[in-house]
Amino acid sequence: MLSEPVTQLKGVGEKAAEDLASLNIHTIADLLDYFPYRYDVYEIRPLSELIHEDKVTIEGRVVHDPTLTFYGRKKSRLNFTIEVEGVAVKAVMFNRAFAKKQIQADQMITLIGKWDAHRLQITVSSYKLGAAEDQEKINPVYSLKGDLTNIKLKKMIKAALTDYGSQIIELLPDRYLEAYKIPNRKDAVFTMHLPKERMSLKHARRRFTYEEFLIFQLKMQLLRKIKRESTQGNSQHYDSNKIEEFINEFPFSLTNAQKKSLDQILTDLKSPYRMNRLLQGDVGSGKTAVAAIGLYASITAGKQGALMVPTEILAEQHYQSLTELFGDRARVVLLTGSVKGKKRKQIVAAVQAHEADIVVGTHALIQDEVIFSDLGFAIVDEQHRFGVEQRRTLRDKGLNPDVLFMTATPIPRTLAITAFGDMDVSVIDEMPLGRKEIETLWAKENTFERILDFIEKRVSKGEQAYVISPLIEESDKLDIQNAVDLFQQLQDYFPPEVKVGLMHGRLPSIEKEEVMKRFAANELQVLVSTTVVEVGVNVPNATVMVIYDAERFGLSQLHQLRGRVGRGEKQSYCILIAEPKGEVGKERMRIMTETTNGFELSEQDLKLRGPGDFFGKKQSGVPEFKVADMIHDYRALETARSDAQEIIENSLLENDEQFYRLRQYLEQEFSFADKLD
Ligand code: ADP
Ligand code: MG
Repeated sequence: MLSEPVTQLKGVGEKAAEDLASLNIHTIADLLDYFPYRYDVYEIRPLSELIHEDKVTIEGRVVHDPTLTFYGRKKSRLNFTIEVEGVAVKAVMFNRAFAKKQIQADQMITLIGKWDAHRLQITVSSYKLGAAEDQEKINPVYSLKGDLTNIKLKKMIKAALTDYGSQIIELLPDRYLEAYKIPNRKDAVFTMHLPKERMSLKHARRRFTYEEFLIFQLKMQLLRKIKRESTQGNSQHYDSNKIEEFINEFPFSLTNAQKKSLDQILTDLKSPYRMNRLLQGDVGSGKTAVAAIGLYASITAGKQGALMVPTEILAEQHYQSLTELFGDRARVVLLTGSVKGKKRKQIVAAVQAHEADIVVGTHALIQDEVIFSDLGFAIVDEQHRFGVEQRRTLRDKGLNPDVLFMTATPIPRTLAITAFGDMDVSVIDEMPLGRKEIETLWAKENTFERILDFIEKRVSKGEQAYVISPLIEESDKLDIQNAVDLFQQLQDYFPPEVKVGLMHGRLPSIEKEEVMKRFAANELQVLVSTTVVEVGVNVPNATVMVIYDAERFGLSQLHQLRGRVGRGEKQSYCILIAEPKGEVGKERMRIMTETTNGFELSEQDLKLRGPGDFFGKKQSGVPEFKVADMIHDYRALETARSDAQEIIENSLLENDEQFYRLRQYLEQEFSFADKLD
C-alpha cells in the first residue's frame, strides 16, 4: 500500500528513513510525490545556436590533457580544450582538481556550463565522460538533506515505482484530464521521476501544476464557505434613503468602480454572513469615500463603526475628514497612542456607552481597554501593514463585525487569488475623472541643484513639494539624521519666502500634526520627510515628489510615495534620484517612468521580486507550491480557480462520483475545523 512507511522499501534503513523524514517524506506515497526541483538537460545544439551566458551542453573530443593551477587557499582552476564541430572550445573548471585525472586527451566528454560566446569558452558546472548520446538526456535533480545523495534517492524512488507504481490512483475527474489533455496521475508520476523527453515532461508538470492549484483553490474556497456559514447573522438593516442623501451631498459623483465596490459592501452588510472583504484600489482612486459611505450605512443600522489605520498622522487626517463629512450625522472620535489621561478615559467610556458612533485610530483601537457597545463594521486601512493577529483581535471586538480590509497596494491578480483566496475582493480600477497623469523622471544625484530650482519654480506658481530623504538602513536614527540634514540644506538653499518643513516618525505627534496642518494650509511649501508620508496623506496642492535613493525602495512603495502628488487638477511630477547598480534596480526605475498604473506596476514588481517578497518579509501569506509557479503558470491558476468555484457552487465533491477521490484526498489532507477563527 502506498501509505506504508518508506522503510518497507529494500535498501531504506533507519538512517535513510530519518533523512527522508527531514524532507517530510514518511510514506511511499510521500516519496513518489517528492518531485525533482530541477532537471539538467543534456541536449546538444550547434555552437552557432548557443546563447551568450546561457547554460548549455556541449560534447567534444578532449584535445590535450588538462592543466591545473592553484591560487589562493585551496582554490584551483582546471583548463582544457575540446574540439566541437571542428572548433576549439576552451573549458574552465573551478575547484575540482580531482577531475584532472579523469579527463584525458582524445576522450569524448560532455560538458554542462555557462557559455561565453565571445571567447568560445565554457565555465563547466558539471561534466560526464563520453558522448551525450549514451547518457540519459534529462537528469532529475532533487533537493537533499543529511546523507542522501541524488543517486541514492533516485534508486529509492525507482524501487518505489517498481513495487508500488501500479497502485497510484487518479485524483482528478476524467472530464478535466480530457479537457486539458493532461496525462493520468500514474503516468505523470513516472514521467516526473524518469523523464524520457521534454514534451511528456512538460505535460506531466502541467498536470501537477494544475492539480496543486486546484487543490489549493478548493481548500481556500471551502474555507471561505465554512467561515461564512459558521458565523451568526449580523444583517445590518441600513437606511437606503439616508445613504443616498449622504452621497448626494458629495462634491463629486462616484465613479462606476466606486459604485460597484460600494454595492458589494452594502450587500455584505445586509447579508447574514460576516463580511471578509478586501477593497483594493490605487492611491487616489477614492477608497476612503467608499469606506465612509459603508461606515455611515452601518450607523443608520444603529451600529458602531471603527476605522483602523497604520499611522497617527493618517488617523488624524481621517478623523478630520470624517468629522467634516458626517457633520451631525455621526459622532466621530479619535483614539491613538498619544490620546492620554482624562481625555482617553472619556473616549473609551463614550465608545462603551455607544455615545460615539465611529472610532478612528491606530492599533490603540484594539487594546483591551477599548470595549465597543455594538461594533457592526470594522475597516482596516493599508491592511498589509498590520499583523494577522491585530486584524483578528479587531474582528473579535464586537459581535462578529463585518470587516473590510483596504489596501492601496494594488495586488497582482495571482496573489490576490492565492494569498487572499479566502476573502472576497472588490477592486476600484478606475480613477476619478480629470486626473492628470503624473510625469515621472529618473535623475542622477548630481542634478540635485537643478531639481531644487525646479521645485522653486513650482512653488513660485503656488504649488508645493515633498522631498523624501535618503534611506540608509532600516535604522530609524540614521533616517532621521538624514532628514534633518536635508532639511537644513534646503532651508539654506531656498530664499526665505520658501518655507521648508520637516517630518519624521520620531516627532511628537502634536508636532507632526502641526507640520501636516501647516503643509496642508500651504504655510509650508516644501516638506522634507522620511517615508512616514507614504500612506494616505492628502494634500492636493502638492505637485512635486522628489525621492532620494529611490533604488532602495520597492516598486510598490515608490508608487505609494508618488501617489502623494497628482491628487488635484494640476500637472504633477515625481523625480526619482537614483543610481542603481544592478539591472533589477535600473529596470525598476524604467518601469516607474513608464507606467502610473498601479496594477500593471504591481505585476512587474511581482516579477522582479518574486511572490515571497512581495508583501515584505514579515507576513507574506503567500503559499509555496511544489511544482507550480504562480507567475509562470498564471493561466493554470485562473483555470483551477474557476474550476474550484464550479465544484463548490454545485457541491460536486458531495454529489458527483467523479469527484469522490478528490474529496477523500481533501478530507485526509486538511482538517478544516481548526482553521476556523
Ligand atoms: P484613496 O483613499 O483611494 O487614496 P481618497 O478616497 O483619499 O483616495 O480620494 C482621493 C481624492 O479624490 C480625495 O480628495 C477625494 O475627495 C477625491 N475623490 C474621491 N472620489 C472621487 C470621485 N468619484 N470624483 C472626484 N474626486 C473624488
Ligand atoms: Mg486612503
